[in-house]
Amino acid sequence: MNEPTIFIVSAPSGCGKGTILHEVFKDIKVFYSVSCTTRQPRDCEKDGVDYHFISVEQFDKMAENDDFIEHAGFADNQYGTPKKPIYDNLAEGRDVVLEIETNGAFQVKEKRPDAVSVFILPPSIPELRRRLLKRGTEPVEKIDKRVAAASAEIARADRYDFVIMNDELDDAIADFKTVYSAVKSGDRSADRFRPTNDDIIKMIDEVLKNA
Ligand code: 5GP
Repeated sequence: MNEPTIFIVSAPSGCGKGTILHEVFKDIKVFYSVSCTTRQPRDCEKDGVDYHFISVEQFDKMAENDDFIEHAGFADNQYGTPKKPIYDNLAEGRDVVLEIETNGAFQVKEKRPDAVSVFILPPSIPELRRRLLKRGTEPVEKIDKRVAAASAEIARADRYDFVIMNDELDDAIADFKTVYSAVKSGDRSADRFRPTNDDIIKMIDEVLKNA
């Protein structure tokens, strides 16, 4: 696949998605889409870098103007991917990476069936909760809400093109690199990460069983 590719990456927050992507695309020039959100910035987050932090009114206006390739509500906030930078970067020959939740991922897939979707699983739900508590960016009630949302998201992982698990970070990075290379070269070396493989379905079920 020599055409520039849209990579849709979904993972419950706390799955290490950011760290994995940073490593995978360290030496590859890709465009990371910066989403718009109505959520409040966390202490470490910068406007225009991590997100465009906008008001509900601004968000609604953008949605009305069809400025988003997709948008969705998640944990009481709105999130949307601005359309123009995606198409501009694809036109310039650059791969594009979208870190978005499942509803948005399915919207993009519907509009762009050539987009490639990857779901990153946590090793278990209790481990995900532990990672979120350790990160300490949110009060416990919010974490409970995110953990509940995570289970719902994981239940849809079988609808992605590829599913990998972040148990050991180095393995997850290597697995994602395998997926990336297979997609770009059009070979089948990453087929074991497809949900058509029974082991992947078992892995998803296992994570949900421990919820
Ligand atoms: P967080 O609040 O932890 O940054 O993100 C919450 C969830 O929203 C994550 O699953 C994240 O991937 C997702 N998200 C971030 N940006 C977008 C977006 O533009 N669209 C959609 N649909 N989800 C997004």
